[in-house]
Amino acid sequence: MAALTRLFKPQFSSLLFHRSLSTLSQTNSSPPHTDDPNDGGSRSFQWVFLGSPGVGKGTYASRLSTLLGVPHIATGDLVRQELPLSPQLDEVVNQGKLVSDEIIFNLLSKRLEAGESRGESGFILDGFPRTIRQAVTEIDLVVNLKLREDVLIEKCLGRRICSECGKGFNVAAIDAKAENGLPGMSMPPLLPPQQCASKLITRADDTEPVVRERLRVYKEKSEPVEDYYRKQGKLIEFDLPGGIPESWPKLLEFLI
Ligand SMILES: [Zn+2]
Repeated sequence: MAALTRLFKPQFSSLLFHRSLSTLSQTNSSPPHTDDPNDGGSRSFQWVFLGSPGVGKGTYASRLSTLLGVPHIATGDLVRQELPLSPQLDEVVNQGKLVSDEIIFNLLSKRLEAGESRGESGFILDGFPRTIRQAVTEIDLVVNLKLREDVLIEKCLGRRICSECGKGFNVAAIDAKAENGLPGMSMPPLLPPQQCASKLITRADDTEPVVRERLRVYKEKSEPVEDYYRKQGKLIEFDLPGGIPESWPKLLEFLI
């Protein structure tokens, strides 16, 4: 991990640095200064978080966006916000079909333009680009979050929802041994309070075959997207060492 950090840090800094310079040269509002690469004028952060379903990327993206003072834009949220305005889109989603690349791209473009006019200093995208056809927006850095697949599956299978209050919990007590070069990992369950304990239900699509299929589809679609950004030197990979309390400080240390 430390080696990985050393390997990626210079690239990361130079990315931020180049972004800062290009922003400055575009706006030409102040002379470039090199002492602080984080202080680069408008749209300093144009980042993407990638990761399998269940990896927790929404949580990490949301925490980081708060820290950096940039919006966390999840394409799933953009689609949900649009549903009341578009009966056609509502129909697509209700039938469980995939929302087209074109619709996602239009919704995102609209959101980014609105943000730019409000003076937002960047964004962290979550859930975009999902396919190679969507990977056309200007991005500085792509953070690919990874978690041991057996742990990821166990975590997905441990998900429970309270049928009364709708809160989510996780009953999986993960204790994965180190093997085949993979690090050992333990995560405590997130157990419900007493009033919810007897009302827990499992989502119909959290069965092992469905979870495995979801991961397979994700991998198949995301690999070309990862390659696309890897070739541009913009992809960094981070192996999550465990659950959120353990991983969050390490992710921060890795990024900043
Ligand atoms: Zn409850």
